[in-house]
Amino acid sequence: MIKKTWRPIIGLEIHVELKTKTKMFCHCPTSHFGKPANTQTCPVCLGLPGALPFANQRAIWWAIKVGLALDCQANETAKFDRKNYFYPDLPKGYQISQYDQPFCQNGRLDSIRIRRVHLEEDTAKMIHQEGQTLVDFNRSGVPLVEIVTEPDLTNSQQAKEFLKHLQLIIRRLGVSDGDLEKGSLRLEVNISLTADGQLPDYKVEIKNLNSFRYVEKAIQFEIDRQSQLLNRGEKPSQETRGWNAKKQQTYSQRSKEEAHDYRYFPEPDLLPVEISPWQIKLIKKQIPELPVNQQLRYRQMGLTELQARIIISNSQKARLFEQTTPLLKNKRQIQTVANLIINQRVNVGQTTPQQLAAKSKRQAPKLMKDEAVLATIVHQVLSANPKAVNDYYQGKKSAVEFLLGQVIGHTRGQAEPNQVRRLISQALVK
Ligand code: ZN
Ligand code: MN
Repeated sequence: MIKKTWRPIIGLEIHVELKTKTKMFCHCPTSHFGKPANTQTCPVCLGLPGALPFANQRAIWWAIKVGLALDCQANETAKFDRKNYFYPDLPKGYQISQYDQPFCQNGRLDSIRIRRVHLEEDTAKMIHQEGQTLVDFNRSGVPLVEIVTEPDLTNSQQAKEFLKHLQLIIRRLGVSDGDLEKGSLRLEVNISLTADGQLPDYKVEIKNLNSFRYVEKAIQFEIDRQSQLLNRGEKPSQETRGWNAKKQQTYSQRSKEEAHDYRYFPEPDLLPVEISPWQIKLIKKQIPELPVNQQLRYRQMGLTELQARIIISNSQKARLFEQTTPLLKNKRQIQTVANLIINQRVNVGQTTPQQLAAKSKRQAPKLMKDEAVLATIVHQVLSANPKAVNDYYQGKKSAVEFLLGQVIGHTRGQAEPNQVRRLISQALVK
């Protein structure tokens, strides 16, 4: 029998806990981490009969902010729906979420399409101890933004990179800590395998992934597990699986619900939310520089892609870099500062921008000024680039700038542009 090659089809669902001061549908504080159990509650977030929810405007704005930062289109009319299911962490018997009119949809991050960005309420937390299950309602009702991608990912590495980028954006927007360990960022992976590129008729969901490494490993594990089943002619069952970090494997938790099992219907206690184009514009204006643009700017300052990425991924490093660069005179000093920060030759937490600038000026490589050495490099560059030289003689003066760049490159940026420009002009005189 010829073995088929199976191609993974992967989609992601990400829940982001917003750090608004108050909960999604009541005035209780959201700061539940480390607080004594059931001290941040009220009839609304305890799900007591007759209690009425009212929507947190800031949470709505932040959800839209996330959506816009992910290139989504914001809907002018959105509404809340009830997602019905029974579980002890959900005393109402339903979660207030969004179904067919989410706040945002049709976005993109990197090459991955974003299906939707919606807002919902977090559930209570269940604590299992000594054969008992205790329920802490401090987390119940905390605003959660759910981001759902299209099944556009094809491997574990790509999923990890995507999630890291997303985490960076969430943190940049200032709407969440995006902390995997504390659960303010929760990841779910949907994965199935195809032989012909068609979407298969089953889907496995993996939960409890509280690190990017686990996402990577769980995907790899599932690819192996599912392809073994498929090779035997069996179809993997549609189910939710957990991740066992000790055994480094996924395990079956329960069969997966379909959307129609939840009996979604509009939340009668909340009005639909109208968002006008000017409000969307206003939210758009509040979006700070995103990592992708920051990276572009750092590249223009002379950093390599890797250097830019390392600095951007650490807010402390990025802050020090941003505060130091205005004090510098040229790209060489900027390079030196980047290297000092990246190689941890300075204590990032304790160095002031002024100290770092002074250090970089002492350590920046010395200018290469020797005329004879530079003239030799100029001649090498000219003979290696006959086309540019010819262009120059044809009257294309910009060819000099190209040659200048080549020479500066050969000196690893250590030559002074005006001096080199003069040497090139001299060499080009026939
Ligand atoms: Zn409450
Ligand atoms: Mn959800």
